[in-house]
This record gives sequence, structure tokens and C-alpha cells, in this order.
Amino acid sequence: MGLSETEALILRTYNHAEADKIVVCFTQTAGLVRGVAKGCRRLKNRFGAALEPFTLLNISYYQKENRDLVSLRNTEILKSHFNLSSDPETLTGLAYMADLIIEFSPPYQPNERLFRMLRACLAAIAESPPALQTILRYFEVWLLKLEGFLPDIRKCAECHQLFNENGTAFIGPDSLIRCRSCCKATGTALSKQVHMQLRATQRLAPYVFAEESRDISAKTLREMAELTHELIGRVLERQPRVRSTFL
Ligand SMILES: [Zn+2]
Repeated sequence: MGLSETEALILRTYNHAEADKIVVCFTQTAGLVRGVAKGCRRLKNRFGAALEPFTLLNISYYQKENRDLVSLRNTEILKSHFNLSSDPETLTGLAYMADLIIEFSPPYQPNERLFRMLRACLAAIAESPPALQTILRYFEVWLLKLEGFLPDIRKCAECHQLFNENGTAFIGPDSLIRCRSCCKATGTALSKQVHMQLRATQRLAPYVFAEESRDISAKTLREMAELTHELIGRVLERQPRVRSTFL
């Protein structure tokens, strides 16, 4: 309670009352925060362009006890991603990321690793917009992992044997990954390429992952998207509101 200062990424804004906006942002120290930016729709206001979606900011806000909405005080732009907003596909991709963060994050629960991952993915997209789809896959895998919904991709959920380069892994209707003998003919085989991609997300930064995925076939990328969307759909018990573009 009281005054807080943190780094934040703006996810979404809505008009509110006559001259205000409701701002939904993901912060480094407090997770998902919803706040009011008073007077920000007036011509002269202290927020300027700071509240554009996907801007990285330092913010300070005041939180009153028993109030869901905080009051935004000061903002300082660290990185505006304004250049990304001219491409509709990129905008849809970013809106999709914002939507998933909002869906998966309970308000005011700090998750610094998720913040850092989101910030790194955004920086990678800004650096290399054509890598959007690859970075979205990376984002989905890590979102699932950091929220505790990614099955163990290194070993069989049943017999705990490590998967090797040549062994086929199967993903079951319970979202767990098993070896051939444990899956007992249920589940869908993960292709070797998708399994390798999943493992690569775990050891690489998003921009390196995007670099190294440049020669991955469209078929593998599509398979990977189907898998992450399936896993996300199972957690949300529906498909995400914003659909990321399919390949
Ligand atoms: Zn097994």
C-alpha cells in the first residue's frame, strides 16, 4: 500500500470517465496492475505518449487499501515500441501476448521471471519483426513453464527415463509427455524437430532462439504452434481471445 515505483510494460488501455484511461500493465515488482491515469486524454497532460501499449516505463503509482485500481502518478519512458505498431501482424501478435499475460496472471502477484521473459521477447520482436511467429512460440512455451503448466520435456512422466535424440515422445490427453512404452498407444507423437525446438526454448534467449530457428521448416513451425495452442487451450479451457496468426 502507499506509493510504489517499478518498471512496467503497458499491456492495454481503456477510456474511462471524461478524460481518464484505465491502464493495464505488467510490472516487475507487483505483477499485473490496473490503474487510472487521471486526465491523460486532455491535450496537456503529464503522461504524454507513455501509455501507448507495449511501452516500457518506469512508473510510480499510489495504491489505497481495498481498492483494485491504483492511481498512476509519474511515468518515464524507457523504450517506446512505437515502430512496431505500423505492422498489423506484429500488432496482433503483441495484443495476443498481452491477452495471455492478463489471462494467466492474478493481479498483484509478483512474477519477475515472467516480466523479464516478456521484456526480452518484446525486445527480440523489436529487433527482428520477421521473427514474430518464432518468438510467439518461445513466449507461449515459457509462459506455460513459468505458470507451472509446461509438462516435463526432458523425461518420461511415468518411468522418468530421459528422452534421447532418437526416442519418440508422446503427449497424452492429460498434457503429460511419456515414452513409447509408457504411453500405451494413447497420445500424439511429438516430432523429433518439435521436441528439439521445445528443448531449445529452455536454454536459449528469445533472440538467439529466433536466430537458430531461421531454417526450421514451415511444417515444424506449424506443428509447434498447434502444440502450444493446444496446451494453452487446455489451461484456459477455451481458445485465447486474440488469435496469433497461424502460419
Ligand atoms: Zn516411460
